[in-house]
Amino acid sequence: MTTLLYTHDACLKHDPGSYHPESPARLRSVLAGLSQPEFAELKRREAPRAALDEVARCHPRPFIEAVLAAVPQRGHTALDPDTVLSPGSGEAALRAVGAVCAAVDAVIAGEGDNAFCAVRPPGHHAEADRAMGFCLFNNVAIGAQRARQKHGLERAAIIDFDVHHGNGTQAIFENNPHVFYASTHQSHFYPGTGARSETGVGNIVNVPLRQMSGSAEFRRAYDEYILPALEDFRPDIILISAGFDAHRADPLAQLLLVEDDYTWITERLMAAAARHCEDRIISSLEGGYDLDALASSAAAHVRALMTA
Ligand SMILES: [Zn+2]
Repeated sequence: MTTLLYTHDACLKHDPGSYHPESPARLRSVLAGLSQPEFAELKRREAPRAALDEVARCHPRPFIEAVLAAVPQRGHTALDPDTVLSPGSGEAALRAVGAVCAAVDAVIAGEGDNAFCAVRPPGHHAEADRAMGFCLFNNVAIGAQRARQKHGLERAAIIDFDVHHGNGTQAIFENNPHVFYASTHQSHFYPGTGARSETGVGNIVNVPLRQMSGSAEFRRAYDEYILPALEDFRPDIILISAGFDAHRADPLAQLLLVEDDYTWITERLMAAAARHCEDRIISSLEGGYDLDALASSAAAHVRALMTA
């Protein structure tokens, strides 16, 4: 497989504060892991800055402008207790959206089979008109809409294995039968959404996992519920909200995944992409807060993406 890697230095300059878990060190850690010799074949590309019209595929213009206007000249501005802006946050957020959009374009154009976007801030908690949970703009949701609206793909699937439910992505697409959203996440946990009963217009599959669930429960959720539903949906492209905070070492959550689980789910999604959509997968970094586990888990995911 030819795998593209999109990132930008600006994504290191969003700094919500020295005690904030969503730190620039996370991305440095991921990139250090992906600089090992086994990743030499990655096609590395600088993420462009997304145009505001691009962000507007999923967010109202006044919301976009309000977020960018809140970016401080110095110090910090909190949009909510978790979601904090620093002077570099606006540029970082636009590069994060730009990475996913450029990756969608490149994979559809056949410049690579799949792509990983090593970006921050993450996106899956961002609702159409609300930044929250460390997220400003919903990078993956915007990428899905670009694939449909710019490239004319009919059906986009988003798979979210971050330990938190992607309330933003679900809210954006819960009435849109052309976008499938499936999530595994820790139950009774931030942000409180993602019950099994939340099924949208038949396009949403949520599988909450109890605290201390591990590989067996995670894989069963995909084998029994999510992968069969994805198969029925017949996606024209698959996007992944790739959070690695369900790892057993993660300090923010209580699931017990290991690196091999990220290899496993990546391989299963690649098999679905091979059957339905010419291998097209665009994956984008969401959470993951233990720096070592994040680096090794992201490496396992990208290693699998690179392997036919
Ligand atoms: Zn998360």
